[in-house]
Amino acid sequence: MKILVVNAGSSSLKYQLFDMDTGDVLAKGLCERIGIDGAITHKRPGKENYKSEAPLKDHKAAIELVLSLLCDPDLGVISSADEIGAVGHRVAHGGEKLRQSSVIGEKELEYLESIVEINPLHGPPAISGIKACQSVMPNVKHVGVFDTSYYSTMEEKAYIYPIPYELYEKYKIRRYGFHGTSHRYVCQKVMDILGNKDAKVITCHLGNGSSITASVGGRAVDTSMGFTPQEGVPMGTRSGSLDPTVVTYIMKKEGLNPEEMEKLLNSKSGLLGVSGVSSDCRDVMIAEGEGSKRSALAMEILVHYIKKIIGSYVAEMNGLDALVFTAGIGENDGVVRELICKDLSYLGVEIDSEVNLGAKRGTQTEITKAGAKVRTFAIPTDEEYMIALDTYALSK
Ligand code: ADP
Repeated sequence: MKILVVNAGSSSLKYQLFDMDTGDVLAKGLCERIGIDGAITHKRPGKENYKSEAPLKDHKAAIELVLSLLCDPDLGVISSADEIGAVGHRVAHGGEKLRQSSVIGEKELEYLESIVEINPLHGPPAISGIKACQSVMPNVKHVGVFDTSYYSTMEEKAYIYPIPYELYEKYKIRRYGFHGTSHRYVCQKVMDILGNKDAKVITCHLGNGSSITASVGGRAVDTSMGFTPQEGVPMGTRSGSLDPTVVTYIMKKEGLNPEEMEKLLNSKSGLLGVSGVSSDCRDVMIAEGEGSKRSALAMEILVHYIKKIIGSYVAEMNGLDALVFTAGIGENDGVVRELICKDLSYLGVEIDSEVNLGAKRGTQTEITKAGAKVRTFAIPTDEEYMIALDTYALSK
């Protein structure tokens, strides 16, 4: 069966077509500037990329263009859209009710619409992406794979915030967790490697957005992102966790309204806010090498917070079998991995510096030092493949 995976953003739509018999990606690409003007990049392994500018008035126009390219005699990889057996949609937020990947019907769409208030950035484009695909491909199943659903196994003590309980009841303010599909994917990979179905695993998804998840036996017990992807470790432009009073104090002193304050925390903080240089880890490290003290500080803070979370999760799980790094920074940056793992030997984490720094970018590498109690890995994530697998399972 062939599965199309779709990830719709506010002005973008990413796609990947998988052949589930082989696990191969037949084609993938990105529609950009939807609703503005429109552009598409279409890629097929081993062939030249195709790029064009095309008016894309909405997500429906984008998916129509994607299908016409996938079926194009020259640029395509299938002869007709009927070859697509099902469509998997990446959906950031499944709220409290969509606790596992699900076929999306009217009831599910209605529920997604009802939780837009707690997911204002990612909810509307995901819904419009699903609706567009359903209207263009009405005869196949459309499956939603939710970033939050991996966290449906967390206990109340991990997801209820210590604020008046009525606020949870009234507004569903709680820890939801994000990047769940990525954490689930790399956690499963490492459990397969260890051959231990009860393994205690910490997965560090470190990219522009970063989150850390603790799992026991492939079930999440805690995660650093919370009600929104704003909580947890510092990120490219997001602050991560703060003393809540810092927020109200800044609002008073700077005269900011809630939207302006959210912008400050979301887009002007993190690596960018402290370094004043960039949100990109590579740029910040280059600036550090050139003597920027604030860039050095930004990196120190990043590593400091990540270590604190790792330590707290070991305490929470009363042990650790494997530590995994994934996403842009986690997969590719041996220096950051080394800084995080330094002085974690008390917890059993020790890495082989030479193997770690020599690890080929984007390849699965075990970086454990010989004899260390905990096994440490860099594992490339593949959220799209995970979405395809769930979609396939629900479409057979
Ligand atoms: P997103 O959260 O947007 O998916 P990514 O997972 O692509 O982000 O991660 C982006 C981050 O990864 C940036 O901070 C970037 O500096 C870092 N990164 C990407 N590639 C490399 C690399 N080869 N070496 C070091 N850092 C990298």
